[in-house]
Amino acid sequence: MANADNPPASEDTIDALVIGSGPAGLMAAETLAKAGRRVTIIEGKPSAGRKFLMAGKSGLNLTKDEPLETFARAYGSAADWLYPMIAQLDPVEIMAFAEDLGQPIFTGTTGRVFPKVMKASPLLRAWLRRIDAQMRLRWRWTGFDGDMLAFDTPDGLQTISPNVTVLALGGASWSRLGSDGAWAPWLAQKNVELAPFKPSNMGFRVAWSDHMAPHFGTPLKNIALIAGDMRHRGEAVVSHRGLEGGGIYGVSSAVRDGAPLAFDLLPDRPVEGLISRLRKRPRKQTMTKALTGLGLDGLKRALLQEFARPLPEDPATLAALIKSLPIRHDGPRPLDEAISTAGGVPQAALDKGLMLRAIPGMFVAGEMLDWEAPTGGYLISGCLATGRWAGSHAALYR
Ligand SMILES: Cc1cc2nc3c(=O)[nH]c(=O)nc-3n(C[C@H](O)[C@H](O)[C@H](O)COP(=O)(O)OP(=O)(O)OC[C@H]3O[C@@H](n4cnc5c(N)ncnc54)[C@H](O)[C@@H]3O)c2cc1C
Repeated sequence: MANADNPPASEDTIDALVIGSGPAGLMAAETLAKAGRRVTIIEGKPSAGRKFLMAGKSGLNLTKDEPLETFARAYGSAADWLYPMIAQLDPVEIMAFAEDLGQPIFTGTTGRVFPKVMKASPLLRAWLRRIDAQMRLRWRWTGFDGDMLAFDTPDGLQTISPNVTVLALGGASWSRLGSDGAWAPWLAQKNVELAPFKPSNMGFRVAWSDHMAPHFGTPLKNIALIAGDMRHRGEAVVSHRGLEGGGIYGVSSAVRDGAPLAFDLLPDRPVEGLISRLRKRPRKQTMTKALTGLGLDGLKRALLQEFARPLPEDPATLAALIKSLPIRHDGPRPLDEAISTAGGVPQAALDKGLMLRAIPGMFVAGEMLDWEAPTGGYLISGCLATGRWAGSHAALYR
């Protein structure tokens, strides 16, 4: 890729413009270039794909190795909409994509797929080398100037009128990496009706009592998280800010939307067994000893104290609490801390090729679109798939 930090900004040279260099934008750009379009990528930050690189810090979970039908269901209410896009760039293709870029992959026990190097930088470097496009860094899109696109650039304000544009500006979290959601009012001014941003895959605030402080940073292992009808095995981390971690993220959208949160502290033990053990508890045995005897470690006992004080002596009531301990929280952590965001450009604002109905010639891809999915590789996969879909339809736009 030609890296043109300060290229001559001649407006008539821009054919296909992609704004945003995350996985969605890069996939759209590569697809446009392969279709023969002259592509320019604009990125507000001084380097490409910063959030993608951040995803690499936890190993870069690219996709999930599971049948397409199962995979598609992870996109919940957006599954039908996204299905054709996911089907044309499915998990098998995404694995091949990484390997084509010289990144051997491996599949973990849960089906999650990672590059063997467990980071994003080699894949991103190889991909940027391969994409036939010009890149303009430190160019920040600032909205519309009439029908033109306006940019804040190292050389001052520039306006561009490309033949076709793909917006791939990301969601509205981790703004320091570039995805700040600032685009929402600009599209709204052009009569694009947006869904409000909501945090997705996020932690929850809990105002802990002092006795919880020694447990901050400790993972809560071997629990089931319950949110309404949803039951999910996973881990949570107790921190001074509240509860976070993969297990919490897995139920976070249901809890955000109003489902009560509860933990099964002993998910492998049926309630009847716990009741009969508690009934046989010697009279003089302390509650701590009885709970330890059931297999509850210090953190689990502290959580019981936190959310069910005073602990009931009645075996059935206590066992029921161990199996479904209501977790009181003060709502989601702030939007900017979320792994991803829901909301943004809804299906109704787009045609089948992901072009904005209100702005002909402007396509949208990636996390800007109003869909959400759990962690597990579904996010990057969804961004790649919508990027390819928007890119291939944008390539046909003249
Ligand atoms: C800590 C963390 C770990 C994650 N781990 C995983 C994981 O393992 N697996 C997974 O599937 N997902 C993961 N994700 C989520 C994943 O990184 C995102 O869903 C994905 O990067 C979104 O891709 P995108 O291309 O839509 O947008 P982004 O990657 O957010 O890229 C958007 C780009 O647009 C640029 N931009 C924005 N506004 C402007 C503007 N006005 N002008 C110019 N440029 C602009 C931004 O600077 C940015 O480079 C993780 C996220 C975080 C925060």
